[in-house]
Amino acid sequence: MARPSGFGAKIANRQKEGKKCPVCGEAIVHLKVFKSVSTENQSVKYNQKMVSVCACNKQEIFN
Ligand SMILES: [Zn+2]
Repeated sequence: MARPSGFGAKIANRQKEGKKCPVCGEAIVHLKVFKSVSTENQSVKYNQKMVSVCACNKQEIFN
């Protein structure tokens, strides 16, 4: 029986797309969050940050 070539590569790609957290086993979702930061001159700045969200930190991000 011929071994299907490229099969392993396809599996690897799929794992890369649907990355799962090794701790909770949930799929990791990448989100942009805006955090307000007060600067020295009394103005408020919004910092944009990319976060990886799974069951481990879901609660503290969406509280
Ligand atoms: Zn997790």
